[in-house]
Amino acid sequence: MHLEKRILITGGAGFLGSHLCDMMLAAGHRVLCVDNFFTGTQRNVDHLRDNNRFELMRHDVSFPLYVEVDEIYNLACPASPIHYQRDPVQTTKVSVIGAINMLGLAKRTKAKIFQASTSEVYGDPSIHPQTEDYWGNVNPIGIRSCYDEGKRCAETLFFDYRRQHHLTIKVARIFNTYGPRMHPNDGRVVSSFIVQALRGDDITIFGNGEQTRSFCYVSDLLDGFVRLMDTPETVTGPINIGNPVEFTMIELAQLVIELTGSRSKIVHLPLPADDPRQRRPDIAIARRELGWEPRVQLREGLEKTIAYFETRLAEGATAAG
Ligand code: NAD
Ligand code: UDP
Repeated sequence: MHLEKRILITGGAGFLGSHLCDMMLAAGHRVLCVDNFFTGTQRNVDHLRDNNRFELMRHDVSFPLYVEVDEIYNLACPASPIHYQRDPVQTTKVSVIGAINMLGLAKRTKAKIFQASTSEVYGDPSIHPQTEDYWGNVNPIGIRSCYDEGKRCAETLFFDYRRQHHLTIKVARIFNTYGPRMHPNDGRVVSSFIVQALRGDDITIFGNGEQTRSFCYVSDLLDGFVRLMDTPETVTGPINIGNPVEFTMIELAQLVIELTGSRSKIVHLPLPADDPRQRRPDIAIARRELGWEPRVQLREGLEKTIAYFETRLAEGATAAG
């Protein structure tokens, strides 16, 4: 029998959140999308406006929220370095106070709660690939710290609410994810390279381009979220969810140039402070506990993402997104 759940998705008008709204509605649930539109846009969820199981609420989760729900996916937080560094104090507030508010809501409503944590909790890792039991190498006072430490503190809160108040928690450590509805000007490497290639602008590699990331396509990631949410109460995470195939930024740039047929040139700019040198998830736990692994190869995912940005640019995407 299908059970209709009331699902709260914070940050639901963002890149990942909007796809999650689609997925939960398709599964027959009610979705309350809460977003303050700091980096997300109404445009990402416009197509859901006429669905009577969907509700959009403008709200900043660093303020309390009183609603009745069965499950919470807590995604609210700017995710790209230029966005989360724009107002770093607010980034820590949304991560920490937002987590407290959502955990308080989960405690009152007895809702199961999911946290969108991040591979950034590992900082510039000295263990490679990163396993969940690695405690990380994070600068507490640098320009990335508002995000990294905010997310680390949110994890602490999730586990303390579980120990102290017996909440059902699910913590996913998300590695770099890409796909349609990324913000065209968010400065993340996949969206930046694609937009630069499509416009014929120089492709900006920071540093020598030998640093690595592992890129997961959005549909794979969300499949992992749902599997984690469906695990028995004893499975809390943190669980790495990401694609373990690792690329250098030079390899990524070359692939984007090839797939777009662009004549853009590669240029090198200074490497930002605290930029992690390498990142790749160990997904053994996700494989074992969720029966999950990514299916979409980078080439295929990039083709879909490029098609999305082609349409956006043809519509005249602006800096405001
Ligand atoms: P995004 O910026 O597109 O989405 C974040 C959403 O949160 C936006 O819609 C934004 O307006 C909203 N938001 C920000 N502050 C808020 C506040 N105070 N109150 C309510 N809403 C607020 O980013 P995304 O890539 O979709 O990331 C979603 C979540 O996943 C974030 O928590 C991020 O840290 C995490 N994550 C993403 C990635 C990735 O590669 N995409 C990697 C690791 C972790
Ligand atoms: N990067 C780059 N050119 C860009 C944007 C990013 O070379 O125009 C690099 C960045 O320095 C980092 C990697 O790409 O090493 C991934 O950056 P992103 O901001 O996407 O994510 P994060 O560093 O948070 O993993």
